[in-house]
Amino acid sequence: MTDVKELLLSRIRDVADYPEPGVMFKDITPLLADPAAFTALTDALAEITVRHGATKIVGLEARGFILGAPAAVRAGVGFIPVRKAGKLPGATLSQAYDLEYGSAEIEVHAEDLVAGDRVMVIDDVLATGGTAEASLQLIRRAGADVAGVAVLMELAFLAGRQRLEPALGGAPLEAL
Ligand code: AMP
Repeated sequence: MTDVKELLLSRIRDVADYPEPGVMFKDITPLLADPAAFTALTDALAEITVRHGATKIVGLEARGFILGAPAAVRAGVGFIPVRKAGKLPGATLSQAYDLEYGSAEIEVHAEDLVAGDRVMVIDDVLATGGTAEASLQLIRRAGADVAGVAVLMELAFLAGRQRLEPALGGAPLEAL
């Protein structure tokens, strides 16, 4: 493991049975509170963004905002928030997706993504992949191209990578 990966891993706190029994929550607040770790993560996400030729970063509410916004500034690209339904004031595109129990909906301002954009999606954790998959569908429906998905952590046992594959259409999924 590289020094950066070791540093990042050492700043992630496992919280058992949160927010419900059986879930091991990956808490990134210790990482955010450590400037060396947060800077290393920002640099790594910006490097991925630049390497894949992205022109915009989409951050997924809410921790994708915290990680995606500084990476966008560092990479010199725009930052676009994808929010839970009902939070954006302008005209939106919406995408519903299934959860284990029930469904959810995410939205983006329609004018924020246009043909010719190459978009990197950033979030903290890839679990089932449902949220990231819905964001890729939004990006494509807006007429933009998918540059890839970059996350701090992938919970491989939930097979989110496999779920995302069709929506990625050959674009990379990078988990730090
Ligand atoms: P999913 O759509 O199942 O891939 O879930 C991804 C979203 O839920 C991300 O925005 C994560 O922040 C959050 N999430 C899911 N599982 C966890 C976990 N075990 N620890 C922390 N966050 C999680």
